[in-house]
Amino acid sequence: MPSFPESLRSELRALLGAENLIEGGETLATLSKDYYWYSPALRPQLDDKRADVVAKPGAVDELRALLAACFKAGVAVTPRGGGTGNYGQCMPIYGGVVVDCSRLDRIHSVEGGVVRAEPGARLITIETVARAAGWELRCYPSTWVKATLGGFFGGGAGGIGGVRWGGIASGDTVKSITLLTCEAEPRTLRYEGAALSAPLRTFGTTGIMIEIEMRLAPKLDYDQVAFSSPDWDKLLDWTDAAMRNGAWRKRVASQFQWPIPSFFKPLKKHIRENEHVSFLMPERSETAAVVASAEAAGLIVSYNRPLSDPPKPPFLSDFTYNHTTLWAMKTDPAFTYVQAGFGDNFRAQITDLMTRYPGEVLIHLEWGARDPDRAVGPNASPDAIGVGGIPLIRYTTAGRFDEILAYARSINVYVGNTHTYHLTATTPEGTAARHALKHDVDPRGLMNPGKMHTFPLNPFAVAS
Ligand SMILES: Cc1cc2nc3c(=O)[nH]c(=O)nc-3n(C[C@H](O)[C@H](O)[C@H](O)COP(=O)(O)OP(=O)(O)OC[C@H]3O[C@@H](n4cnc5c(N)ncnc54)[C@H](O)[C@@H]3O)c2cc1C
Repeated sequence: MPSFPESLRSELRALLGAENLIEGGETLATLSKDYYWYSPALRPQLDDKRADVVAKPGAVDELRALLAACFKAGVAVTPRGGGTGNYGQCMPIYGGVVVDCSRLDRIHSVEGGVVRAEPGARLITIETVARAAGWELRCYPSTWVKATLGGFFGGGAGGIGGVRWGGIASGDTVKSITLLTCEAEPRTLRYEGAALSAPLRTFGTTGIMIEIEMRLAPKLDYDQVAFSSPDWDKLLDWTDAAMRNGAWRKRVASQFQWPIPSFFKPLKKHIRENEHVSFLMPERSETAAVVASAEAAGLIVSYNRPLSDPPKPPFLSDFTYNHTTLWAMKTDPAFTYVQAGFGDNFRAQITDLMTRYPGEVLIHLEWGARDPDRAVGPNASPDAIGVGGIPLIRYTTAGRFDEILAYARSINVYVGNTHTYHLTATTPEGTAARHALKHDVDPRGLMNPGKMHTFPLNPFAVAS
């Protein structure tokens, strides 16, 4: 790989100021990484990846000049938000410049149920500003304290709120994306409507987003409630029915097989030995009915606290989605995870996995809206909701891991590959649209090279 050009280093220093160009030390190493170490497969592939420099532009014009300079020098450019991705999405495989977007964090407006903001705005900050104006995020990752708007739409999937609104690509949640191209004279391009599917979730390979418009929901007040039972099926039946009850508005529903709850150390006094647990965030005026229904079904309410407005910890969501994996790994680093989607026969699929791999596969479920238009309210339909999750797997060898995934697939569990840094596969039409976009916005193939592996142009791979 060619060495980093000294002329570019000087140019970036002059452009951004030395304090906004990180050229070495621990900070350079930290800002070159994300949570890729969740994956035993990714660790050996990515452990040594480092940026040559990390640049922190504070204005769009600085970013434009930076992109033009990198284009001219033929140097790789990798955008970074909060660095909380799990697949090495923001890690520079071929070095070059990591563009840290944290100073591009202005929230321009919250108007008519739409937030317009720069990519570095953190999601919890957007929620705080939105709530003050009577709105809330439709969905957010459990990492919302650190994760940014650009990172969520560049590499995320969904999360809290998904049981009502689906993931980031569902419905009309994203209104527009504006990005800068990587060219001699970077252009500003705006995408909306059907054109949004190409630039969404491309791991920073198709330009740098500089502004996002995202639709919000009218704000509600929520409680955070945990339900406990030694009987897995009883808990699953109740949680599933509660999720499909369109009269109850809720922001999250997760269920954890024992001993997962024992990994949640900060909740220790609310966790009952040998009992499985469900977490719910019901709308506050409906909490009493939700709790009464659970108690009538024989469940114990082991935790019940309001979600504060503006948002402040404790957050029960700190234990959901991929936070569950984090707590498990803190207890036993041998745990890793997979992304799973279950079918209409989810009870049988789950029981099958629990019985076949006791102690080796631990079930963690999340409910999500397959059809947000029918998830709540008068048009609600139970089949608008699907059951997925992030089961934990105690990792021993690659062979054993693959064997477990092959078995899960053989019983028709959808298993997403969470152990590659390559862009998630899409339909042939989707791939063609991605390639067309890449050709247009990144003609030299400099943007986060190696991640869009289906794209033939990677000048760094050719050179090495
Ligand atoms: C404990 C834990 C829990 C998690 N829970 C969830 C969850 O509930 N839901 C979920 O979806 N994910 C989850 N994740 C993954 C991750 O937190 C989210 O996807 C998050 O939205 C990423 O945001 P970020 O700002 O950290 O992005 P980063 O990791 O910094 O970047 C993600 C991708 O976006 C690209 N990118 C960043 N900024 C831009 C930009 N301006 N223009 C173009 N591309 C850009 C980067 O190049 C990278 O490819 C979790 C991860 C962890 C470690």
